[in-house]
Amino acid sequence: MTLALARKFPGTPLEDAVRRYPDVPRLIILKTDVQRRGVHYTEEAVSYLDPEKHQTTGTHIFGARDGVIALRPESLLLRDGTSIITTPTPLEENPYVVDLRDGRPWLFDAGVALEEVDYWPAPAFYGKDSSSGVPMKNIVSARPQRLNIFPYRYCTFWNNGKGCAFCDIVTQLKKGSKELKIPARLDPVEVGAVIGEALKEEGRFSTVFLTSGSIIGGSRPFDDEIDYYIAILKEVGKNFRTPKFPSQLIGTAFEKEQLKRLYAETGLTSYTSDIEVLNEELFNQHCPGKAEWIGYREWKKRLVDAVEIFGPGRVNTGLVAGIELAGPHGFRSEDEALERTLAEAEDLARQGVSTVLIVWSPRPDTALGAYKNASLDYYIRLARGLHALRVKYRLPIEHDSYRNCGNHPDTDLSRLLPLWEE
Ligand code: SF4
Repeated sequence: MTLALARKFPGTPLEDAVRRYPDVPRLIILKTDVQRRGVHYTEEAVSYLDPEKHQTTGTHIFGARDGVIALRPESLLLRDGTSIITTPTPLEENPYVVDLRDGRPWLFDAGVALEEVDYWPAPAFYGKDSSSGVPMKNIVSARPQRLNIFPYRYCTFWNNGKGCAFCDIVTQLKKGSKELKIPARLDPVEVGAVIGEALKEEGRFSTVFLTSGSIIGGSRPFDDEIDYYIAILKEVGKNFRTPKFPSQLIGTAFEKEQLKRLYAETGLTSYTSDIEVLNEELFNQHCPGKAEWIGYREWKKRLVDAVEIFGPGRVNTGLVAGIELAGPHGFRSEDEALERTLAEAEDLARQGVSTVLIVWSPRPDTALGAYKNASLDYYIRLARGLHALRVKYRLPIEHDSYRNCGNHPDTDLSRLLPLWEE
């Protein structure tokens, strides 16, 4: 059934926001709001999906906002190549609607046709199986221009129930192994072989990305995680002629000696370790496993240490933006949250560490799932603030850019506005 009909309607919330922020491109504001509110695909929009041509949902380590695993588009592309990474969201939560208009998918809000979109194209290797018979897309998945490796779909912070308050990795692991037959732990040799197959599609991919849940084991805490990443990156590196290759790893905040090994023994070129929220009390509350094993101040120190190894502009940290306002202990106002978050981000930027945001999607199987994320104005102001810090401290963000990641409204700004003025 078609839920949305195209009609002219000038005063949409989107166009109002576009007028309030003339320095931010309309498509970035739209992307941010679609990430904030989520999407609903009509039956017609789902019927447009062709698994031979388009990527379908299912391989990510985190779940959808409606908690359902079903055949739907993995996500959306705007006409300027901007990725929108968003998840299907229940209609009662007022998401944007994706419906067909003249036979093509469009984004609608309250019946108003806002923008034509495309579904992410399926890479050529998605139709193939690995040597052990696993579909290759269950070993390496793709964004429009990035290859994703999610080698370990569990996080040992959950061993004693201290996973992050916004995280549904364990629920998704159970669904993934039962409904999608995705291996919980990947074989590094097989990962390297699938990357090799993916790279046969010339000109498509700009980077290789690797992340998993934290692994606390080893002679030093997290040595097992480091060893596993090194084994995978070595296999991936066999596909490149140069010792280093464009790559990003999101891992736990490692000790300096561990980081040195990671850099020296592999082709890795950038390192991200997500602090999730820039406030010590909120970090302790929302990320108890990270607090127990590393601690807030030590997490920040290890980020700064990583700059010595990877270089300024090649180390960053991510925020699940909006959780700082959720619950009884969150900041009382968006103004206060902005001021305090940007102050801590500036302290990191001054020392060579960039901060990027993702728009928090409250997911049903999480401790914070009942709360709402922040306003569109908040996300726009935070994105502008984080971009301004990169300008001020001259921090490139290429490894987490619109092309190599696509999940950060703030890094989208770095391709459209000068990163710094000479
Ligand atoms: S570190 Fe936190 S967000 Fe990341 S996988 Fe573990 S529990 Fe989830």
